[in-house]
Amino acid sequence: MHRNQFIKLTFLASLGIQYEIKNEFFKACSTQQVQIKNLLGLSASHLISDSILIEKQTYRSFLKMKSEAAKEGMEIQIVSGYRSFSHQKSIWERKFKQMTKQMSSEEAISNIITYSSIPGTSRHHWGTDIDVIDAAVKAPEGDLLLEQNYTGLGPYSPLKSWMEANSKKFGFHLVYTADEKRSGFNYEPWHYSYAPTSRKYLNLQVSNEFKLAWKKLEFTGKSDMSDEFIETYFKNYSLGINPTLMPS
Ligand SMILES: [Zn+2]
Repeated sequence: MHRNQFIKLTFLASLGIQYEIKNEFFKACSTQQVQIKNLLGLSASHLISDSILIEKQTYRSFLKMKSEAAKEGMEIQIVSGYRSFSHQKSIWERKFKQMTKQMSSEEAISNIITYSSIPGTSRHHWGTDIDVIDAAVKAPEGDLLLEQNYTGLGPYSPLKSWMEANSKKFGFHLVYTADEKRSGFNYEPWHYSYAPTSRKYLNLQVSNEFKLAWKKLEFTGKSDMSDEFIETYFKNYSLGINPTLMPS
């Protein structure tokens, strides 16, 4: 067996074991089901790689936006683009394990979802969503992605103002806005989405086919989620976004 073939088979085998997905499910894939697999963070086939993985059209438009911002002395840098299911699962399980030392599973889950998506549902699986900073200014101490860094005298405040005025021209919109009437995740002034592609992806994410595929995934804490909770989560979190990003 060639080495590449071996690596490919080993990789596929690990996917099967880790996520306990029945092979038949994706074998007779239609184009739509391939996209579901992509949106669950289980396949990166729709992405291209620079230093990070990102969806093709998103990347093309990002480069244009980046060079426009460079004229103002800013260096837009993506600190988080694509995230796989396995990465999101590890973030989720670390938080779940830590929090359930002090509270019930249900309480831990509702705490985690103020900022972190349930594995398989993150918009970061799509490759259309990016968390950005300005690499031309000195990075603040500690966590970069904090609201205080993007407001007032925060180092990324000028970038935030520039994005507000210009990002739409390139198709990028803030997802988790400061609108108090919005449900779901807290305000994230750093998280933008490339609307022309992500609107289509969202349309697929809210489909029954997507939910059926998601239900086959395994991660800690999932058995503590009732059907009612899952329905409410998809409604309030997947759709609790900037209205501009809703499918037309
Ligand atoms: Zn983000």
